[in-house]
Amino acid sequence: MKFYVMSLFPQMILDGLNTSITGRAIDSGVLSIEAVDIRDFSNNKHMKVDDYPYGGGAGMVMQPGPVCDAYESIAARCSGRPRVVYMTPQGHTFNQHMAEEFAKEEELVILCGHYEGIDERALESIVTDYVSIGDYVLTGGELPAMVVIDSVSRLVPGVLNNDESAQTESFSDGLLEYPQYTRPANYKGIEVPEVLLSGHHGNIEKWRHEKSLERTKKYRPDLYEKYMAENNNNS
Ligand code: SAM
Repeated sequence: MKFYVMSLFPQMILDGLNTSITGRAIDSGVLSIEAVDIRDFSNNKHMKVDDYPYGGGAGMVMQPGPVCDAYESIAARCSGRPRVVYMTPQGHTFNQHMAEEFAKEEELVILCGHYEGIDERALESIVTDYVSIGDYVLTGGELPAMVVIDSVSRLVPGVLNNDESAQTESFSDGLLEYPQYTRPANYKGIEVPEVLLSGHHGNIEKWRHEKSLERTKKYRPDLYEKYMAENNNNS
């Protein structure tokens, strides 16, 4: 899968993702992440890409020309016109379902705003999806873009190895994941639950499902209610 990230601070994207699991996937060629510097498309001799907002108000707004031109330079290298995800606090809140949808794309463009945001005409021209990572405001879209890329990447076949499977994780079945333990079996007097040492797969599955229900009910009652309604289950 190839990500194109349109940003005024492309180095942030490269520094953030060129490590750990995404870094390994980039090295092996399963993933490709190209950070496109919107400033390269400025038509101003000082490479300026922002200006004062019409109507007044605080801050600066990114101009439409460089954003649209940066997108066209990407689209010219793609098979069609790739989907453009604009990271914005005004978008739909990102979730695992969206990550699964984006992971089906071969090419995905992510647009990062800065300052007060981007001229609406550029957004109307190129954006297909408006996505927020939560109800708070950050200085720029680079961290949100990295959140999206990280979560989408781990669903791309070949990014995770067998030991890192995404199949049984939180949200994959609508519930939070059960608690995990590793060696030693006794840590400072605290034992690993006995059932996990039993080797009895049926009992282990049952215990894990109960724990998933328990912690989803405690920490995410909204998800718990939904799961119960969908699974017609009153346990
Ligand atoms: N003036 C904008 C508003 O009130 O909606 C906020 C602009 S914010 C300071 C600058 C940029 O950061 C945005 O264009 C967006 O790309 C990014 N951003 C900030 N918070 C975000 C969030 N919660 N989710 C996704 N992107 C965010």
